[in-house]
Amino acid sequence: MKKVVVFIGAIVLIIIAVVLTKTISNAPGAHQKSSVLEPLTNESINHMSQAIQIKTETPNDALEFDTTTFLTYRKFLEKSYPLVHKNLPRTIIDSFNYVYEWKGTDTSILPMVLMAHYDVVPVEASAVKLWHAVPYGGEVKEGYIWGRGVLDDKSSMISILEAAEAQLAKGFQPKQTILLCFGADEESSGNGATAVVKYFKSKNRRFDIVVDEGGEISTEEMKDIKRPIASIGVGEKGYVTLILTAQIAGGHSSIPGQTTAIDILSKGLYQLRKKQMPAKLIAPIKTYLERISGYTESFSKKIALSNLWLFEKQVINNLSEAPSTNALVRTTIVPTIVNSGVRDNVIPTFATAYINSRILPGETQKDVYNFVEKTINDTNIKITYYNNYSTLPSPTTDIHSKAFKRVEAVINKIVDDVIVAPMLMVGATDSRNYRDVSDGVINFTPITNAKGYHGIDERMLVTDYQKCINFYSLLIQGSK
Ligand SMILES: [Zn+2]
Repeated sequence: MKKVVVFIGAIVLIIIAVVLTKTISNAPGAHQKSSVLEPLTNESINHMSQAIQIKTETPNDALEFDTTTFLTYRKFLEKSYPLVHKNLPRTIIDSFNYVYEWKGTDTSILPMVLMAHYDVVPVEASAVKLWHAVPYGGEVKEGYIWGRGVLDDKSSMISILEAAEAQLAKGFQPKQTILLCFGADEESSGNGATAVVKYFKSKNRRFDIVVDEGGEISTEEMKDIKRPIASIGVGEKGYVTLILTAQIAGGHSSIPGQTTAIDILSKGLYQLRKKQMPAKLIAPIKTYLERISGYTESFSKKIALSNLWLFEKQVINNLSEAPSTNALVRTTIVPTIVNSGVRDNVIPTFATAYINSRILPGETQKDVYNFVEKTINDTNIKITYYNNYSTLPSPTTDIHSKAFKRVEAVINKIVDDVIVAPMLMVGATDSRNYRDVSDGVINFTPITNAKGYHGIDERMLVTDYQKCINFYSLLIQGSK
């Protein structure tokens, strides 16, 4: 008996020793200084301001597409970036999607794609009075550039063109071919990017780096970490919507029966909201946690993150608490539309609900279906796929790939003391199409604590604009 106690005691001591050693040896990296950024010119600021003033809104109905505005935007590009238009042949695909090709001197290297979209979501008429600037004014004040689209995603498009124009003016010639690809419908169908990739496939083209919008820099998400964190998107969640239909004979509301279609559906939805799909730490999130672990000022958090081999379950539970981090560790499911009833004195025969799911890499639409079926466990509810749009989670880009490393190196050059880590994208971007033609898809723009996406007061720090142009300039220069 005594021997057993001594043995268990020894094991516990060893575990404690390993945990403490791993925690203490996990020291933050040395401070590192970024390079001096190229200055931002007034001309660059004017270009961004002008880009915002051209109202390239994406319509809900493709028939309402405003061709005149998109042509005005094309003219603006041609006028503002003469060297790009003189030296980089442009291919127009499906009217308003552009591919500019900057031929490299070594065609044996697979090209790099810098991409963005220039359509923007509409500004809600009722919300205009809440803005602190004219939504399509392109105003520059209080250190920001204001307006719909300045973040999403004219920041990328205009910065890419500013960088290319400046490099061309210096006579720069890349070794690796660079393609600049711009889409006109990311906020609606994304058909433009699909058509562009189809065009590339028809030419058997592949790319070793594709950089699109997505990940950003944060200095306020984690209170216990004092350094900026640059999250590089390396993969996207999948997407599926299911329709639940409850059916039972309705009738006059003056003589209700025990159960109605609404009751059945409500019970099913309640079951579904009570339970979540199982959580797990997928590779990029694990790497993210490992990379930030040395920098946390919370000792208990540092112990847990430095010893995921022992505390993985506790860490997952912790991440599950906030919606933004819960979405990183599991497939989420939420009802988005509920329909039933036609009159206040009629018990309806049908009740339907649409439930939207964002799928974690490693799982499928079928896994979501099976979970929903098992959780609801009611044969009175029919479950079908809503077939407007559905996609599997994307593969994830390796952090040891040339693509990740090139972007990581550039971020280190433009941000002081930055922690660079991979991240999972919970929403979808145009770049998901490019997974078919590249193993190096990366989602990142060097914008800090961005606010106003799709909402009011969309704005970008002028200093972030400068970072963006420098980011693309360095990516272009790295192709030498
Ligand atoms: Zn976007």
